[in-house]
Amino acid sequence: MQIENYIDGKFVPPLHGSYLKNSNPAENTVIATIPNSTVDDVEMAVTSANNARVVWSAYTLEERIGWLRKIATALDSRKSEVAMLESVDTGKPIKLAERVDASRSVRNFNFFADHAENLTQLRYEMSDATNYVIRKPVGVVGLITPWNLPLYLLTWKIAPALVMGNTIVAKPSELTPMTANLLCEILASINFPRGVINIVHGLGNEVGQAIVEHPDVKAISFTGGTATGKIVAATAAPLFKKLSLELGGKNATIILDDADLSAAAKGAARAAFTNSGQVCLCGSRILVADKVYDEFVDLLVAEVKNMTVGNPKLANTDIGSVISQDHMEKVLSYIELAINENGRLLTGGEPLSLPEPNSTGAFMSPTLISEIAIDSRCATEEIFGPVATIHRFDSDKQAIEMANQTEYGLAGSVWTTDIPRGKALAEQIESGILWINTWLHRDLRTPFGGVKNSGLGREGGDWSLNFFSELTNICVKDD
Ligand code: NAD
Repeated sequence: MQIENYIDGKFVPPLHGSYLKNSNPAENTVIATIPNSTVDDVEMAVTSANNARVVWSAYTLEERIGWLRKIATALDSRKSEVAMLESVDTGKPIKLAERVDASRSVRNFNFFADHAENLTQLRYEMSDATNYVIRKPVGVVGLITPWNLPLYLLTWKIAPALVMGNTIVAKPSELTPMTANLLCEILASINFPRGVINIVHGLGNEVGQAIVEHPDVKAISFTGGTATGKIVAATAAPLFKKLSLELGGKNATIILDDADLSAAAKGAARAAFTNSGQVCLCGSRILVADKVYDEFVDLLVAEVKNMTVGNPKLANTDIGSVISQDHMEKVLSYIELAINENGRLLTGGEPLSLPEPNSTGAFMSPTLISEIAIDSRCATEEIFGPVATIHRFDSDKQAIEMANQTEYGLAGSVWTTDIPRGKALAEQIESGILWINTWLHRDLRTPFGGVKNSGLGREGGDWSLNFFSELTNICVKDD
């Protein structure tokens, strides 16, 4: 399959004719070629988005909401294709792609349609005047997304940007272009206004960089690694662009001594190994109260050993491949490092060779490591793979200190039967998102984002709509 850019409502080849290979990491096969676009393709996409701006921003909010619902309906009718493509492109289990990626991509459009429909007019009365706030589109916005949740994260940005009247130049990860391309097919099939959404495929340092640098792109919403986020921030800041950065995480799962250990072990395993540990919110450092350490670790190891690593196409597979051979080597190198740092392997730690067609796929067993220092590299750096470290603590105070002992601050979970105690602890953790007795339980209206090196700004509900609009206050003096 040859994928093309989608610019001004048409599928167009890259101007310089160069393509990159795109692989299925579970089968180690090339499944598509994608444009290896350049700054010239980005220029064409920005021109297209700029031309469409007048038309799109002149639509009423109700008309734009109507378009979001049309996209949702069309995407919903191709949900199984979304799941299949996402599974093939990332190596994630088809059942995960159906449950999470495909359904959430549709939901993102419906959610932001509903949310925008219920927007209240902001008004602030003074004794002698009334302020009211109007929203204007920001203009052309640049959306840059990673490979772990391809369409889920792209639509999480596209939907609020569209409904607020912006036009879009987006770059999906070069590792996972398939569902962004499917979305373009859907846009073409419903005669979505041309030029409003433009997708340019290619490498980050060429295409992503050109989007961030372009003077006509007025806002950048970026999700990806912290190192890339630093480059994006350094490029965008002197241009005074609006900037939203959703970056890496190294999240704690904290098991208190009064937790329901069986539920906590299930929750901790899910938090550590969903999508092969390749979710920014994954709980990759598990902190366990001394008193229940042995009992909990036995339960957790049993849970993890029970997970089936296998062909992503099979319904009983819990864990598929990681994103690439290169990434697997990086993850394995962290395990080697942990062992050199006196870590003890409780389970996993190895690459796996599965039966055909997965014999050369990027599969590895889910890995738990104990006896490693909380400030070691494996316990503080984002590995972004199926590896979690386990650490003991002897007081809630120590658990908080350990949880905060990382440069990241995205998420975390606390497991306890004493909710006031859990809340007191959660409130002292330096993270943007905390769960008590659950993980990845999302209400899309709530603020989503990180502190410290996990990012800048918040997405979700009003925060997304505020990011993608310019708020203008008009103060009317009474007679
Ligand atoms: P990455 O930073 O390598 O790439 C992300 C995107 O940025 C890709 O599309 C890439 O091509 C592009 N890019 C690369 N260099 C660029 C540049 N100079 N200018 C502009 N764009 C550039 O990240 P990844 O490996 O694709 O994704 C994994 C990372 O994403 C992990 O760190 C993970 O924690 C993070 N992530 C964060 C969230 C969140 O919401 N906080 C969600 C998902 C993933």
